[in-house]
Amino acid sequence: MSRAYNFSPGPAMLPESVLLQARDTMLEYGDAGASIVEISHRGPEFIEIAAQAEADLRALLSIPAEYAVLFLPGGATTQQALLPLNFADPGQRADYVLTGHWGATATRQARPYVDLNVAASSEDDGYRSIPPVESWRLSDGAAYVHVTANETIHGVEFRPAAPGGHAFPDTGDVPLFADFSSSIASEPIDVSRFGAIYAGAQKNLGPVGIGVVIVRRDLLERAGQPRADIFDYRLQLAADSMLNTPPTWNWYVAGLTFRWMLEEGGVEEFARRSDEKAKLLYAAIDGSGGWYRNEVDPAVRSRMNVPFFLPDPALDAPFLAEAREAGLVGLKGHRVVGGMRASIYNPMPLAGVQALVDHMRDFQRRHG
Ligand SMILES: *Cc1c(COP(=O)(O)O)cnc(C)c1O
Repeated sequence: MSRAYNFSPGPAMLPESVLLQARDTMLEYGDAGASIVEISHRGPEFIEIAAQAEADLRALLSIPAEYAVLFLPGGATTQQALLPLNFADPGQRADYVLTGHWGATATRQARPYVDLNVAASSEDDGYRSIPPVESWRLSDGAAYVHVTANETIHGVEFRPAAPGGHAFPDTGDVPLFADFSSSIASEPIDVSRFGAIYAGAQKNLGPVGIGVVIVRRDLLERAGQPRADIFDYRLQLAADSMLNTPPTWNWYVAGLTFRWMLEEGGVEEFARRSDEKAKLLYAAIDGSGGWYRNEVDPAVRSRMNVPFFLPDPALDAPFLAEAREAGLVGLKGHRVVGGMRASIYNPMPLAGVQALVDHMRDFQRRHG
């Protein structure tokens, strides 16, 4: 089988041109005389790679100068544990808004360190909606408010730019922290609305093993809680995210991916493509006469992750097997939701979504 259209939620599809560059430099990086994975992070080649990656990410996301950018090992879950350590006093109140699985995961990472308040949750609704901001029970004096910009498993997304979409709240003096793991760089965002934005790279930014944290510099002056040096964002910033040996390969490939996104036209262009891809897929689901179902409130349906169900779970296995034959992989839904899920991040071309829609129509015709 040659390379298929990969709808995997993460680790996810990367642009072919990025993989080709990575393949070439795996053997020898420039005239370093060694592979990119064999050279020092303190050497001139890698220092240049790291600086370029930060500059490109800053350009891509229009990150203001008063925000620091950290490249840290591990995933988004790691940052979910580090945020309270760095920004909340021991036992201080922190507000969490739950719109799916990952928001709930974030509360489990933070609960040992803060007085955790679930300010709003759509759990009773099976995480198919976002509670209206007026109903959120935010605390006075909270260290921060935490939201998940896009819920990768449940397919629920804050859509500040969409007509009728759900905006991020104005939290006043309390900084807003957002997990952008699965939607970062898919549309323009106003970084200045947030105290901190974080993302694991493996959804929309590159390979797994590295995460990005974008944080307002003044927040780094907060005392936070007793923590080991290696968990201290301030010390990591002072060391250019190289307090210890960083995941150089992952950082390098993420940098190639940032560069690819810039060359393709940046976040405005990816917003346009994402809308086009999501519209095509949701139209196929909604136009199937109820055969395929997506149960998320249409106002907050994710542009990145589209869960959908067939009329009978017994059809799931044949749907996946025949999809694979048609060159479509990674469509099995997460076990907590079931059914199917198509993840359509920036590297997924419109032709891939068209091939999926064609498969869905064909399958329904034969099994419906
Ligand atoms: C995947 C994901 C996570 C967990 O990421 P890890 O890198 O596996 O820790 C957290 N939040 C969101 C929104 C995700 O999509």
